[in-house]
Amino acid sequence: MTENKAAPSNGSILVVGGGISGLTTALEAAEVGYDVFLVEKNSYLGGRVAQLNKYFPKLCPPSCGLEINFRRIKDNPKISIFTQAEVEKVEGTPGNYEVAVKLSPRYVNENCTCCGDCEAACKTEISSDFNFGMNKIKGAYLPFEMAFPARYVISPQIIGTEDAQKCKEACKYDAVDLEMEAESLNLQVGAIVWATGWEPYDATKIDNLGFGQYPNIITNMMMERLASPNGPTKGKITRPSDDKEPESIAFVQCAGSRDENYLPYCSYICCMASLKQATYVREAYPDAKVYIFYIDIRSPGQRYEKFYQTIKEDENVFLIKGKVAEVNEDPDTGNVTVVAENAVTGEKVKQTVEMVVLATGMQPTAATDKLPADLKYNEDGFIINDFEKGGMFAAGCANKPADVVSSNQNATGMALKAIQTLVKR
Ligand SMILES: Cc1cc2nc3c(=O)[nH]c(=O)nc-3n(C[C@H](O)[C@H](O)[C@H](O)COP(=O)(O)OP(=O)(O)OC[C@H]3O[C@@H](n4cnc5c(N)ncnc54)[C@H](O)[C@@H]3O)c2cc1C
Ligand code: SF4
Ligand code: SF4
Repeated sequence: MTENKAAPSNGSILVVGGGISGLTTALEAAEVGYDVFLVEKNSYLGGRVAQLNKYFPKLCPPSCGLEINFRRIKDNPKISIFTQAEVEKVEGTPGNYEVAVKLSPRYVNENCTCCGDCEAACKTEISSDFNFGMNKIKGAYLPFEMAFPARYVISPQIIGTEDAQKCKEACKYDAVDLEMEAESLNLQVGAIVWATGWEPYDATKIDNLGFGQYPNIITNMMMERLASPNGPTKGKITRPSDDKEPESIAFVQCAGSRDENYLPYCSYICCMASLKQATYVREAYPDAKVYIFYIDIRSPGQRYEKFYQTIKEDENVFLIKGKVAEVNEDPDTGNVTVVAENAVTGEKVKQTVEMVVLATGMQPTAATDKLPADLKYNEDGFIINDFEKGGMFAAGCANKPADVVSSNQNATGMALKAIQTLVKR
């Protein structure tokens, strides 16, 4: 792996986005001998998967999968990675693209040993984006403990303050560079794979489900962070209003999905995500009751269906077929009543629980942040692969909602498409 050293050549491939899809495309292409530039806007690789507690269906921690990929990248001189980097402009045609990339300053150089002295010296606390604002972190921080590249970041929020100076003075390795500036880089590549992934749908836009209004209503990605040992509560699932261990939790499926007012499509993974999160709750609290309100349970394929059947057999998990119409909070207890119509019996169901998880869907990053290239999008913002034109391809959730396995398969296919562009050149 070479970091931040460009050797531009149009015989090489640019991968934009260092989530699981981008990592896979980059590795597959590099391991057959192609030079790859991997551009990631975050300060670390791994994308959304790095924020998960466990993967369905095996329920292993995402660190297993990611660490193997990080090791393969470290060992491969064909891959150059650029973090805190974004593509600004793409010009050219298949086989011959000129790409302008902007690198934002990290204020910490490669001398960093992750000793943590700058973090200890820094007094300012900032909201943690990685944990969806559920806790605060220091202005000098490591994004998470297995972050790759393993290097601290000084937040731009403390630049110019006394605290930034204290971080510099605390560093014994001359790794803090407060003069670091944004840089630009020009790359010549033959093919581009956009693996820019997804964002959790903004649940504050859903007007009937109380997110942002009632503290004990959280999203599924917040639940992943709450359940994670490296999360804001060190893996203890507690409700936000009073840190109580919940005795009952409701999951609201299709929260803002399959609804013309919000996301009209099915996000593919949020049924499986809630079934998985039911296991987090049941493991942590053996007496807790879990209520899952759904329109249809989508558990595609034999393995996922088996996973669903296992959860269904749990006598403390109640699956209710019915779309949630409203939620109400009791201000005295913080408890939330979920109201739905049972689609099987036709009865109105009112279930009071201590905490609610909204199974919000995936929105492609490109839906809100159009990419600076001549790409086609569908009406929901997913990039359409134009194989006839070739040259630029979309992998993983940039192309459609997908789980990790399908993202990896799709990303491998796109590595091949990129290679074919170079070979045909
Ligand atoms: C609650 C929840 C739980 C889930 N649990 C599971 C599970 O247990 N098992 C499973 O298989 N799947 C699970 N998933 C799905 C899984 O998260 C996705 O399959 C996976 O994240 C897809 O990876 P990706 O690389 O396509 O996208 P992402 O993970 O979104 O990665 C995209 C990367 O691109 C970067 N990027 C974006 N735009 C730019 C840009 N313009 N320039 C540079 N970089 C950019 C981003 O910073 C990010 O690092 C879950 C999803 C949810 C919502
Ligand atoms: S920047 Fe310096 S003080 Fe901070 S973790 Fe790295 S080596 Fe340690
Ligand atoms: S995966 Fe399930 S919860 Fe998600 S949109 Fe599809 S049906 Fe709804």
